[in-house]
Amino acid sequence: MKFLVTAGPTREAIDPVRFISNRSSGKMGYAVAAAARAAGHRVRLVSGPVALDPPAGIRPVRVISAADLLAAVDRHLDWCDVLVMAAAVADWRPKRPARRKLKKAAGPPRIEWEPAPDILRAVAPRKKNTQLFCGFAAETNPSAREARRKLRDKNLDLLALNDVSQPGRGFEADRNALDVFTADGRVHRIPPASKLRCAHRLVALIEELSSEWFR
Ligand code: C5P
Repeated sequence: MKFLVTAGPTREAIDPVRFISNRSSGKMGYAVAAAARAAGHRVRLVSGPVALDPPAGIRPVRVISAADLLAAVDRHLDWCDVLVMAAAVADWRPKRPARRKLKKAAGPPRIEWEPAPDILRAVAPRKKNTQLFCGFAAETNPSAREARRKLRDKNLDLLALNDVSQPGRGFEADRNALDVFTADGRVHRIPPASKLRCAHRLVALIEELSSEWFR
């Protein structure tokens, strides 16, 4: 199959030298890309700014902001059979980034915010019924109800929920554990393991669902 994977954070400009971002390291998305390739799939990886070496044999498409990420996903969407949105996309961005560096002497800036594009929501109407979309949700207070709502709301086939309040898991960590909610109402638990191991399990689940649903 053809996997389009997004990974890492986005950066939203405040002024030419400042931005707002988040703690995503990109490790989970890179692990999914590596696992999919190791399983024999073709992989395109769209990556926000991260400090990781690309997985073997993959040259990431590099992006900075949510708008860039949307443009890249838009460009590669029709190519893929599976979209895995592991990127931690900004939810809000400064409405009017300053064109010049804000002066410290002017005091704390008042920043007006607007929603950043919601990529999954934006591409949902284009989803073909032979494509599988998988989202990620990083929560400090995970709930199955909320995960199911998000799954429906974003028209996803799978939603991988990870608890980022657990020490040693989620953001920046090398290990993770995922509860994967699927559109047929099931939950598949991927127990604590390295992100690469979790990614292999997730890719295997995607393969299984794809052969079950699209037989
Ligand atoms: O709603 P929430 O941000 O928790 O949803 C998480 C999922 O939505 C992730 O797969 C993330 O990549 C995606 N997302 C998106 N565009 C946004 C924010 C999140 O596609 N602006």
